[in-house]
Amino acid sequence: MELAHPIVIAGPCSAETEEQVLKIAHQLKETDTTVMRAGIWKPRTRPGNFEGVGALGLKWLQKAKQETGLMTATEVANANHVDLALKHDVDILWVGARTTVSPFIVQEIADALKGTDKIVLIKNPVNPDLALWLGAVERFYESDVKNLGVIHRGFSTYEKTRYRNNPEWQIPIDLQNKFPDLPLILDPSHIAGRRDIIFDLCQTALDLNYDGLMVETHFDPDNAWSDAAQQITPAALRQMTIDLRIRKQEGDAVEFRNKLNTLRTKIDVLDHQLIESLGKRMKIADSIGALKKKNNVAILQTKRWNEVLGKMILEGEENQLSEEFILKIFKAIHQESINHQKKVINE
Ligand code: PEP
Ligand code: MN
Repeated sequence: MELAHPIVIAGPCSAETEEQVLKIAHQLKETDTTVMRAGIWKPRTRPGNFEGVGALGLKWLQKAKQETGLMTATEVANANHVDLALKHDVDILWVGARTTVSPFIVQEIADALKGTDKIVLIKNPVNPDLALWLGAVERFYESDVKNLGVIHRGFSTYEKTRYRNNPEWQIPIDLQNKFPDLPLILDPSHIAGRRDIIFDLCQTALDLNYDGLMVETHFDPDNAWSDAAQQITPAALRQMTIDLRIRKQEGDAVEFRNKLNTLRTKIDVLDHQLIESLGKRMKIADSIGALKKKNNVAILQTKRWNEVLGKMILEGEENQLSEEFILKIFKAIHQESINHQKKVINE
């Protein structure tokens, strides 16, 4: 694939040394990357982790830009960071996930960037709250920042999942529906937390018509000073962009297939949620089974079941789902639930 359309932003989680920044910059020149990222101030969830080299690193980014012609990007988390980044010609400023959760800080940064022509990218907040993300976008629009985009980096959960941050694809899809022209970029690195699933995440994003990718990249990922497990080498990035399927946006037949593909990926996201919800529902059924066993209560409670069914038929109607369909689907769910409870009771 030639990533002719999606923008590729790549570079280390953190700028570590001048040599590291320059070496990565030159290696990225051999890839489809047009923007080099590097964190200068690192918001760490827990103290004691590497907190970034600070303003000194901005000079290294400036040098990387002069030597390679790559644009540069860094995270800003207050008005002082904005001031320093602008003084060092940083081309793209991004607002981190831990900042987007705070309307006060978002407003401070939006004020500091009032009327700017710079590109500003807003990461989703750490918690799965679309309104908070939209609110940040609106604050920047109100501050007359025209070149805005958003970065999807996943959402934290208390439960451990296969992801460091759950993708919750539905949230960026909803955001895309509200602001169809706002460029949407995937950060697979912070979603994955590990290198082996970065490719699949990128493919899903391209199938959902994302406009770009931001991938953490380091020449020696295992020894990176932050987020070591999720970084990939520039060579791996290059191979990945060759292997990713990108749908060229030309011709009627191609356009038809693109649209179909996007819709199918949206269905896949929802199907995945359905299965997850059903799985969760059955786990609760297991707990109910255990409770009934302890209290010596019969599995089938007809009155309760009829109430559930009646409620679902009404909710179904509100969602344009026929009574026949609701009956079929809930009979199947109920049967599976009874099977689960029986299993628990007979254990
Ligand atoms: C980062 O990009 O290195 C970073 C800290 O990201 P996030 O704000 O998404 O956690
Ligand atoms: Mn990182």
